[in-house]
Amino acid sequence: MAAGLKMFYARHTGKQNKKMHISEIAPEDKDYLICRYCATRIVWVDSFKRLGKNIPAYLRLWPNTAHEPGCKNTMKSLVDALVAESTNIEDAQEVFAEDNGNYVFRMNVLVDAVRELKSAQKDLDEAAEDSEKERKRTHYQRTEKKLTDYFNSAAGIAKLRARIEDSEDKEELSKLVTIMFNKKKVSWNDFFFDENRYPTLFKKASKIDYPVAIALTVEKEETPVANGAFFTAKGETCRVSKEDGEKDFFCPELRSHTSGTLLKFKAKEEVIVVGWLNTKEAPWKHGITYKNIIFWIDNNKQITRVD
Ligand SMILES: [Zn+2]
Repeated sequence: MAAGLKMFYARHTGKQNKKMHISEIAPEDKDYLICRYCATRIVWVDSFKRLGKNIPAYLRLWPNTAHEPGCKNTMKSLVDALVAESTNIEDAQEVFAEDNGNYVFRMNVLVDAVRELKSAQKDLDEAAEDSEKERKRTHYQRTEKKLTDYFNSAAGIAKLRARIEDSEDKEELSKLVTIMFNKKKVSWNDFFFDENRYPTLFKKASKIDYPVAIALTVEKEETPVANGAFFTAKGETCRVSKEDGEKDFFCPELRSHTSGTLLKFKAKEEVIVVGWLNTKEAPWKHGITYKNIIFWIDNNKQITRVD
């Protein structure tokens, strides 16, 4: 039986089904938890370390149970809700196309919008007269809004993938949502990378020509520091030991030309990042190699919390 997605809200049967976020749940509450939307029991999972990286606490279905049909926490309901929210974006192409009750996530729509925004920025910069500048600015703002909505959709769908723990649920999502780029299918494994798959991402990076999504745990709350021309914020390092005793340290790093986009996250929060990546390798001492996975962030909606 599919295990269902990680959850971060529950209701408390001993407190008139009060809705609680995981941060409000005390140890003595843990025997009274049911799904936020149906009567299925749920269980608390403590935070733990995986590959040296912190996995925050979460909630999951009680073993061998399932959400009631129509519960808003089923994968189908969550995907339908995300698609509904993503359609009818003003003056835009549909980023999700419907296909017999399932959906196609059209990566080209997002990539084209990035290109369009760059060209709108150039037009605005080059506009000479005030009236022309005003018109170009309006166009730029509309284009930026559209791109923000597309990033929101991409991060939203990656977030659902990040909440999956079980292979049956992975299969269900890959049936519900197919990813297409340049008329080719992109497998979910080539779009979404959690910390277990940082090594794979690092290896494939040079061949990937579309935006990908990664799960990342924020290392510490920080004021992003300007590093030359840009600001940076870091994710927790993921440490992988190799057979020869050497170690690879995979270090996710976010870069932005504005500090504001990187400021809103706290230490230990698990977030999803969507964007284009660069990699860099730096051998260090004691057989350790630092492998940097760098994402450029220009839009707030490229980053979203998992909970
Ligand atoms: Zn439910």
